[in-house]
Amino acid sequence: LPARYGAGEKSVWVEYIQLAAEYKPKVNLGQGFPDYHSPDHVTKNLAQITTSDNPLLNQYTRGFGHPTLVANLSKLYSPLVNRQIDPQNEILVTAGAYEALYSAILGHVDEGDEVVVIEPFFDCYEFMIKCAGGVARFIPLKPKVTDSETQTSAQWVLDKAELESLFSDRTKMIILNTPHNPTGKVFTMEELQMVADLCKKYNVLCVADEVYEWMVFEPKKHIRIATLPGMWDRTITIGSAGKTFSVTGWKTGWAYGPAALMRNLQVVHQNCVYTCCTPVQEAIARSLEFELSRRDSPDCYLRSLARELLPKRDFVVKSLKENGFNPYVPEAGYFIIADWTKLGDKIDLSKESDRYNDYRFTKKFAKEAGVLAIPPSAFYSEQNKNLGENYARFCFIKKDENLALADKLMRDWN
Ligand code: PMP
Ligand code: GLN
Repeated sequence: LPARYGAGEKSVWVEYIQLAAEYKPKVNLGQGFPDYHSPDHVTKNLAQITTSDNPLLNQYTRGFGHPTLVANLSKLYSPLVNRQIDPQNEILVTAGAYEALYSAILGHVDEGDEVVVIEPFFDCYEFMIKCAGGVARFIPLKPKVTDSETQTSAQWVLDKAELESLFSDRTKMIILNTPHNPTGKVFTMEELQMVADLCKKYNVLCVADEVYEWMVFEPKKHIRIATLPGMWDRTITIGSAGKTFSVTGWKTGWAYGPAALMRNLQVVHQNCVYTCCTPVQEAIARSLEFELSRRDSPDCYLRSLARELLPKRDFVVKSLKENGFNPYVPEAGYFIIADWTKLGDKIDLSKESDRYNDYRFTKKFAKEAGVLAIPPSAFYSEQNKNLGENYARFCFIKKDENLALADKLMRDWN
């Protein structure tokens, strides 16, 4: 492997998807995807499109995004960022949010540029920064200790002085993931203002990974950093149809931002993907159109999804608590970070050979209890992996019966 890839050859996804096939855990709460049907209208749209009278819907489409999709993304986001987004020049449709991240990072980070990354972080960020020849500068969120019975993702906070100490004239970009995977944290206005102030002071770009934007639990509100004063011109915001419509297998995402910044993403995209799947883009466009037509109704999927997830979240939080874990109640998304160390006496980790205890724990727990979770040290830089070792990440966008089964399996194991 080229040296610039560093240790990037290991992937928690490759390993844990393989483990799921090998161990056959009774319940897989690992990788983040729903195990039940996506909204009916979304999948029907795709079925209709592929067999429609218009043969061109199965052929290549416009490289930077299928016209109906960029038009509807503009309709969706323009009111949310308080400006008219130009569908031709300010939106790029990508192969999942992954490729939006890739195009944003490869399109802007030059040899030696520094990129500030908040830990725990979605693991591909580090690899992409290295690919671009950049240098990641990490800062961990740290859970504040409280005496409260209930721990929440809001307790995971940044130290302001530490954050500022990472910024310099070498800093090109900060990657901000809100709502946050894996903690479920929703960054507050104060936190976003702190990031925005640093971006402006040091002339830094912000890549806002907002793929969980529609899964925020009341009373929390998702704030787009692009809407803060002076931030539109320096922010690239990323979304995902897979997350938005619970069709993760469709692998379609997007980035939006000012034309001058989007140009760099287009250059990467036009030479490594060129154009994304046409029928899938058309189906997402029609699905957005439908949701926009019922935007103010509680049935709008962009609003009902969080409502649907809330009882699942509460069920899994309660189950984890009753089974010896210490979970942080997420304010958004569909993951729960839980401290497993109180179970340390009940489980013999010495037979597992992994370097980090969360890997050992999740593997042994999958074998013994039949429930698979993700080891969060995968979401930390080499020097900070110990900060993730006491936790496991559980995904709760699963059928109620499977969540109930996970609960039963954990009880039987206990
Ligand atoms: N960013 C974050 C924070 C994620 O959790 C994921 C996984 N959905 C992605 C980006 C990539 O999304 P996609 O599946 O659309 O490529
Ligand atoms: N974003 C999802 C997760 O965090 C899926 C990750 C992946 O497939 N690489 O579980």
